Amino acid sequence: MLTRVKSAVAGFVGGIMAGAPDGEQLSGAELPHKFPYMRPAFLGLSPDEIECSADHIARPILILKETKRLPWATGYAEVINAGKSALNEDQACCEVIMVRKKPGGPSTPSKTPTAKRRSSLPNGEGLGLRESSQESEGLILHYWALFDGHAGSGAAVMASKVLQQHIVEQLQDILDVLRNLASLPPTVLGEEPNHQVTPGTHRALTRAASLRGAAGAPGSPCTPPPRFFTEKKIQHESLVIGALENAFKEMDTQIEREKAVYNISGGCTALVVAFILGKLYVANAGDSRAIIIRNGEIIPVSAEFTPESERQRLQFLGFMQPHLLGGEFTHLEFPRRVQRKELGKKMLYRDFTMTGWAYKTIEDEDLRFPLIYGEGKKARVMATIGVTRGLGDHDLKVHDSNIYIKPFLSCCPEVRVYNLTQYEHGADDVLVMGTDGLWDVLSNEEVAESVITFLANCDPDDLHRYTMAAQDLVMRARGVLRDRGWRITNDRLGSGDDISVYIIPLMYGNRQP
Ligand code: MG
Repeated sequence: MLTRVKSAVAGFVGGIMAGAPDGEQLSGAELPHKFPYMRPAFLGLSPDEIECSADHIARPILILKETKRLPWATGYAEVINAGKSALNEDQACCEVIMVRKKPGGPSTPSKTPTAKRRSSLPNGEGLGLRESSQESEGLILHYWALFDGHAGSGAAVMASKVLQQHIVEQLQDILDVLRNLASLPPTVLGEEPNHQVTPGTHRALTRAASLRGAAGAPGSPCTPPPRFFTEKKIQHESLVIGALENAFKEMDTQIEREKAVYNISGGCTALVVAFILGKLYVANAGDSRAIIIRNGEIIPVSAEFTPESERQRLQFLGFMQPHLLGGEFTHLEFPRRVQRKELGKKMLYRDFTMTGWAYKTIEDEDLRFPLIYGEGKKARVMATIGVTRGLGDHDLKVHDSNIYIKPFLSCCPEVRVYNLTQYEHGADDVLVMGTDGLWDVLSNEEVAESVITFLANCDPDDLHRYTMAAQDLVMRARGVLRDRGWRITNDRLGSGDDISVYIIPLMYGNRQP
């Protein structure tokens, strides 16, 4: 086992062992691709340009062309890795989607007249509300997504094509509730905690939302006292969070199901920003990151999921279901590999209940390889993978074994909410989304300083400034080729990973260009 693990560790590049004979790629290689390799559709690249983009020596930075536009004048730039994989395994998607009721869905409950209220909203657009037909109306979903693939680009490509469809389907199930919320006056709309719904049928949700909205804010004379509610109160934004969580789960299930008929290689992380009814929902499963830069202040809006950050969850699973460890791994963590000669001696360890360390007497079982081993970017689950949430990886096994890793990986994102309507945003207030290729070499502070400085020196009326800022960020993270290596400022190593960056200006949240 030790030899096996050593050889696997030697093969690590990026988040997972390179060229791992995980069985999945070999067995699936004969199957057709559902979606061939591509670069983000919004880049509008020709086949020749896509081929040139995969030059590991020149590493050209691709940017959104000036003739192309993303919603809110979003900027985008990307670059391929320095040779760890033949193709760029990052993928991206950005769309504006009208979410409409499912055909044949339940009829819309009667509502209070809303046309007048709608017209009082800024264009009816900024908050995502728009007339769509004489009979029905929809909600607008603004969608930005980054996927960072490993062990092949198949899962990342598929997720970039399909995940938004799952989100739309989930939102359709709560469309009536959300539309009811949208019909409330804008001054009330931003006060989400006041607008709670009770569980039950769809109709009940809608009615509750409508009643509470009509009642006004808590504390007003019309507000029913809390004792009237015998069921748990659920905020509207929790319904959107649940929709996103279920969409990720459905996406993961679809990958698993369709691997039987299509070649869908590897797995991927997923970072999604969805703008719905005045709020940004940031859903993250993996080690990409999003931050908001507002008036020079950094506001983290995601957290990474790695073997270290999820140690206790993984250890608990290994403890509860030891068969998943295949008799080869111990769920306990030690500061270093335990050697046979240390049997019977005391050594520091920690279990899933602990954040600190304590001593234990070494037993035979402790000689097994640790479930989580390594530090920082080199930390791995079962000596194999460096990220603990994402999509795909259903056939991923420990090298040269039949031990599956998927049970330890979660497809569930953490969703954080940022209420755009609560703040005034200037032209230089942005949300930065990046894959780990960016954040591995640049801190939040360095990214923020770069963006702030760059935007300050641009023409504020130039809508391409956000793409230029993204290009500048990718350049800073990639660096320049010097002494046979990529170097950035202070002679630090540049990122050899794929790097993808969105810069989303927030001022358009309530007034779209
Ligand atoms: Mg990466």
